[in-house]
Amino acid sequence: MRYVSTRGTAPVLSFEEAMLTGLARDGGLYLPETIPTLTAETIAGFRGKPYEDVAFEVMLPFIGDTFTNDEFREIIDAAYSGFGHAARAPLVQLGSNHFLLELFHGPTLAFKDFAMQLIGQLFQKALARSGQRVTIVGATSGDTGSAAIEAFRGLDAVDVFILFPDGRVSDVQRRQMTTPTESNVHALAVEGDFDTCQAAVKDMFNDFEFRDGVRLAGVNSINWARVLAQVVYYFTSSVSVGAPDRAVSFTVPTGNFGDIFAGYIAKQMGLPIEKLVIATNQNDILHRTLQTGAYTTEGVLPSISPSMDIQVSSNFERALFYAYDQQGSAVAEQMSALKDTGEFKISQGAYENLKDTYASGRVSEDETSAMIAQAKAKMGELLCPHSAVGVKVALDHQSATPMITLATAHPAKFPAAVEAASGLHPPLPDRMADLLEREERMTRVPGELAAIQSIIRERIAH
Ligand SMILES: *Cc1c(COP(=O)(O)O)cnc(C)c1O
Repeated sequence: MRYVSTRGTAPVLSFEEAMLTGLARDGGLYLPETIPTLTAETIAGFRGKPYEDVAFEVMLPFIGDTFTNDEFREIIDAAYSGFGHAARAPLVQLGSNHFLLELFHGPTLAFKDFAMQLIGQLFQKALARSGQRVTIVGATSGDTGSAAIEAFRGLDAVDVFILFPDGRVSDVQRRQMTTPTESNVHALAVEGDFDTCQAAVKDMFNDFEFRDGVRLAGVNSINWARVLAQVVYYFTSSVSVGAPDRAVSFTVPTGNFGDIFAGYIAKQMGLPIEKLVIATNQNDILHRTLQTGAYTTEGVLPSISPSMDIQVSSNFERALFYAYDQQGSAVAEQMSALKDTGEFKISQGAYENLKDTYASGRVSEDETSAMIAQAKAKMGELLCPHSAVGVKVALDHQSATPMITLATAHPAKFPAAVEAASGLHPPLPDRMADLLEREERMTRVPGELAAIQSIIRERIAH
């Protein structure tokens, strides 16, 4: 399996190279040259199987000869062994034809663990074999950073630097990043918002001297291996509500478009997905894009669902690549317009393609709180604010097709917002009950590339 860039001019890579690289050298994102398909019989055979078995079958065609079958199976088993639920991604019914996919039973209580725990194991195996050392740098609006730190803490071949917007993540999110004691973990509190952090990471990858000098590796949601890990639960959940014999739809609380894009890959692999519904908070650039065909950035408004407080949605580039029938030059043109003017307009044909696959909805702050209260009272579910955004949009898109809404974080990760909305304080699971007492360790940095790069150089020199 070979991987190509969405902008068409970067070197073609193997799975291992694409995984270790992250961002392509032409600024694009890696995608498989062709998407393998599974037969209806194979998909039907997933019913009732352990999560790890399905993960192996769904991901194997994408990894080429990077690992032997036995190695890959070990990687998967190790990745999900620390989850707090035997099903890994259990499905609960909320109402008639409406289901909630709980993706928050991993070590940091958000769906990011599905990808990050796998990537930690993939990196460890690949680096141990080659004797290399890498520096992982990632930007986070909260959940990616804690999931990355949890996945890489203590690994010898890796230093991990996480940039998060100072003061704009929840206490639980921050503490998950600042309390690990391993010396290869570096939490950097950056002056600015998530887009400042994400731009700094992108600029570091585009600074080839720095990139090669520190052997930079990326694990942000642009990393193909992360998208791949997320494809699996579209299969496990769909088959338990009747796929492949009947179609299903998904509603996905969306920011950087990684999670929902994994649903698109599942669909291309043969899963009968009718609609993928984008759910946004008040930072609604993706909803506006779907409604108008124009992608126009505005400022970011902090919300009670902070992991979706984003205006530059990186993985949307992958959706555009397919909407433009895999023409890298068209994608490159749009991305350069975005860089120069803060917006681009999608051509009519590509816009129609997007609308065939995706629908969208936007949820205000008040509606989010009301949904948390309503879900508790009427459905018996205490939702995190992100999942509440998803459930609200899903209710607005109900049809005869079963709808699965992705619950992206545990309510205890966002206790203030959940308590304000419902009057209930969501307790942390026992295994992390002492988080609020552990000692914190972080470095404050200005939101400037040079300052951040010099801290990284200095730290890895030791
Ligand atoms: C990251 C995150 C999202 C957004 O996911 P994307 O893949 O960036 O679209 C939604 N909810 C939570 C809790 C998250 O951590």
